Amino acid sequence: MRLVSRPLSLALLALVLAVVLLAGRDASSGAVAPAAASAELTSAFAWGEPVEFAIDWVSDCVADRPERVPPTCGSPPALWPAAGRLVTLCTLQGQRAAWWTAEQFRAAVQAATEDWNAVEAGVGLSYLGDCADQARWQCRVADGINEVTFDDARNLLVASTCGNSSNALAITFTVMTLQGGVRSIRESDVVMGASAFVQQCPAVVLRHEFGHVLGFGHSDQPGDLMAPAPPPPAQICERQPTAREQALLQQMYGVNRRPTVSIAPLPPVAPGAPVVLNAVAADPEAGTLTYEWTQVRGVPVELTPNGPAASFVMPAQPVGDLEFRVEVRDPLLKTAAASGVVSARALGTALYVSRGTVPTAGGFGLIVFSGGSEADLLAATCGAAAAPTAAFWATNAQGQFVVYIPNAAVAAVNAGWRALYPQGVPASSALLVRCR
Ligand SMILES: [Zn+2]
Repeated sequence: MRLVSRPLSLALLALVLAVVLLAGRDASSGAVAPAAASAELTSAFAWGEPVEFAIDWVSDCVADRPERVPPTCGSPPALWPAAGRLVTLCTLQGQRAAWWTAEQFRAAVQAATEDWNAVEAGVGLSYLGDCADQARWQCRVADGINEVTFDDARNLLVASTCGNSSNALAITFTVMTLQGGVRSIRESDVVMGASAFVQQCPAVVLRHEFGHVLGFGHSDQPGDLMAPAPPPPAQICERQPTAREQALLQQMYGVNRRPTVSIAPLPPVAPGAPVVLNAVAADPEAGTLTYEWTQVRGVPVELTPNGPAASFVMPAQPVGDLEFRVEVRDPLLKTAAASGVVSARALGTALYVSRGTVPTAGGFGLIVFSGGSEADLLAATCGAAAAPTAAFWATNAQGQFVVYIPNAAVAAVNAGWRALYPQGVPASSALLVRCR
């Protein structure tokens, strides 16, 4: 299936490039990019520190990569095309190493994408889960899907098996096109080895290979994540993209800031009262945000998410505070999170109006109610004795006033109110009130 749909034009233009994470014992041979590559990058990117920081790109020609010769390398550097800078990845489980479960493999891939997405650059990695087609990975087959898989008995990572020049811990195979002077990455597949080092530090191996997926070659700085030969495991397992690598990714793809978010604070809520949490979020690039709500502390409640809001009903007998967390993501999966605590108002304490003045002497008043039942609302404002004359108004989603009249003889009078507040009045509701 993967062979059939391959477009002919792509087949002709596709240039397959293997980017190799060398085994540790190969550290002395070929870890350093030659000065010529740096000079070329300087002209391509106006990079200010060409000597001190000679990271190369997947499209660079370097002496230790004999399989990379023009036109599979050279200027300009290869980047994901502007229309596709949320790069999707999926996993092939078939040849997974025995020391990992399918779930551990998925979790590690997800974590490595998040590590790169933490960099505020205009490119993101999106892990989709297992690939729909779980057919074995094939050398030099472009199917447009960015697969993450493991080596198997075919020894894909051993020199010359898939056109690679060195034995490797893991390899990223990148397909690129050169059209009109623009070198674009079309596909990037990661094949992990199952050696002892990979088993000991799988996270850093994935992180490093995903750097290749984004368009990085190797760095000649031994402290960089993209250094080709890892030092002893203890020094490298936690390694993340360095400040230089982050800055370089921003130079390649531009800057894309993560969003900001907070949860609007709420006053204490009555037991049994409905609560609406509101996230206040913004993306510096004005991208559409997605929201993910979770409860992180307290008696479990049924949380109903609705974009930037989430609602729940305060437990009838609350024990301690409830804490909630919202994570927002922009279109490139740059992420921000905030948490908020909702306290239960102790049983027996007074309901209250947090803002505004209740017009007990007559007339109208605009108030903010702490939340609760209809009876709570009356008790907290005009008092139960004012039931024959009291009236309340709220604004529904259409901007219309809906009324609540405690002693209404006809149920239809309060129908709009009860459609708006089926479970009682939420905390921090702004209401218009008349007592007499
Ligand atoms: Zn590498």
